[in-house]
Amino acid sequence: MESKLGSRLPDYEVIKPLGRGAYSYVYHVKYRSTSQEFALKIIEKQVVVQKNLTNRLLNEIKLQKRLNHPCIVKFYHSFEDEDCIYLVLEYCAGGELFSYIKSEGRLSEDETRMLCSQLVDGIDYLHNRGILHRDLKLGNLLLSEDRTLLKIGDFGLAVKLSNYSEERSTLCGTPNYISPEVVNRQPYGLAADLWSLGCIVYGCLTGNPPFESPDIQTTLLKIKDMSYSLPNYLSDDAETLIRSLLSWNPDERLSIQDVKNQPFFKSQFFSTLDTRTLQSPTLILSPVSKHRSATYVDYTETIISPEKPGKYDLPRSNRKIKSLKQDPFATPRSKPIVIKMPLSTANLLPFKHISKNRVLEINDKGWVIVNMNNRQLEVSSDGLTVIYQGKLTNFREMNNNCAKLYQYAQTALDLVRSKTPKIKLQIKDAMCMLMWNEPYPNFEVDFENGARVCYQIGSGKLYVHPLTGGSFEISPSEDYEHLDQSLKNIVDTTLEGLKCCIDEERKLKIT
Ligand code: ATP
Repeated sequence: MESKLGSRLPDYEVIKPLGRGAYSYVYHVKYRSTSQEFALKIIEKQVVVQKNLTNRLLNEIKLQKRLNHPCIVKFYHSFEDEDCIYLVLEYCAGGELFSYIKSEGRLSEDETRMLCSQLVDGIDYLHNRGILHRDLKLGNLLLSEDRTLLKIGDFGLAVKLSNYSEERSTLCGTPNYISPEVVNRQPYGLAADLWSLGCIVYGCLTGNPPFESPDIQTTLLKIKDMSYSLPNYLSDDAETLIRSLLSWNPDERLSIQDVKNQPFFKSQFFSTLDTRTLQSPTLILSPVSKHRSATYVDYTETIISPEKPGKYDLPRSNRKIKSLKQDPFATPRSKPIVIKMPLSTANLLPFKHISKNRVLEINDKGWVIVNMNNRQLEVSSDGLTVIYQGKLTNFREMNNNCAKLYQYAQTALDLVRSKTPKIKLQIKDAMCMLMWNEPYPNFEVDFENGARVCYQIGSGKLYVHPLTGGSFEISPSEDYEHLDQSLKNIVDTTLEGLKCCIDEERKLKIT
């Protein structure tokens, strides 16, 4: 496999193999034109067909590509050639939590707390979107190089439920971590992941998951009988947490919110996540290829039909503009709005947008002021201080109406950021602008002859508006040799401009 890779994937340099799964090979690779490092998961099509894995794979791609959370392995891109399907994933240099625990014997309570609180944040993000992972285990949790950051991976068995109480009945998961209701083939829901969390916490603290045994049948029997023991070196808080997660009855099991309030985790929550998410994320771009030696097809875009927007879907980038026009008070939602990250006006210039019934302003102190339907919200530039209807509060203690306006302000700022240049470079006859929105910045090019290109890097689409009219969209990974010379020049200049802007952006970060 490895020897063939170089010729198959000229855009990538293979750094080293990372391992093999039951159906895949995973390599640490560098994307040559930007030097970004990824984990490249390669699945042979023959195996997909033989093992009837098409649905599993499609599911993995469809779900994971929509997720964006610091505690979840980022899915960047997928493509295929004649023989294989390639998934470009965030590279986690620390490897699996499973291997780390094996090398350490077991982890201290502090280290377990530090890592498992991130796992809880990741599960919370998934459950908020109605996603049940169904295969949470030490081997599917990956670590950063220094082993302080944890990320949930492998979404092959994950499902999106249509509501929080929907239940599933397929027997799946990894025996050591599956819940009694799954073993007993009872309908199961989000609580099944909480059971697995209990097994993971136990595994971190003791070195092995609680129901481990030499054969699967014995493991399943032990789960049914709830036969496990708690070593006496565990603290009372750890013991209480494990017992309340390994509760036989899923209705009595802790929910993910309850877990956050457990004494074991103390104040670990939010402090972990905030420091991670508030760091400015590294600029990562969807890999772009112009090589013709492999037929690059954006697998996700071509074979997966877009799902209807579900109850738990995040707004897609092209829906953001729409959402600005919606009145957040017009569609009351029964679920409380939880704002996890404070907004920020860093890098944005003073700005005022007035439309019917609403005003959005960033003043010269960087405060955001939203006025809508006679309700006023003022938010400090770091998003932490909030004044709603003249009353001072903070972003953790907003009531629902205030949170709706806050959410509106966040969406609007995203849009402003996607229109605010971070890097401006003149390349040949074109002005190239890389915008401030993250993690996928927009990229726009204005040609002297009046043509324009907008590249929504997150969507992988170039929108070309040539001077001659008749705009069209292409994916930069497509072969565009068929275009006439003037259009090819536009695309070439755009890709070259993008590369220069990224280089510039890098240099600026270094200095
Ligand atoms: P299976 O798919 O059979 O459950 P698995 O989870 O081990 O097994 P893969 O997900 O294909 O299989 O991973 C194979 C190896 O590659 C594992 O050792 C895993 O740690 C490593 N790996 C997978 N993804 C990444 C990543 N994003 N960063 C670093 N290493 C990874």
